[in-house]
Amino acid sequence: MPPKAAACPVCRQPVKPETRPFCSPACRDRDLLQWLGEGYRVPGPAADEGMQKSSDYGLDSDAD
Ligand SMILES: [Zn+2]
Repeated sequence: MPPKAAACPVCRQPVKPETRPFCSPACRDRDLLQWLGEGYRVPGPAADEGMQKSSDYGLDSDAD
């Protein structure tokens, strides 16, 4: 299966191999600036929120 065409996280345009994971050096810079602008926001304990029992789903099928 062919790899999905990745989209630039900045402008959503198709990513070019030379500037992955962005579509252009400009977007790469923009992303970097955004990071700096946010003051290196460290991802907090967000792992606590997404406790989903995905394994629970699908096993239990109602006979219909
Ligand atoms: Zn872009």
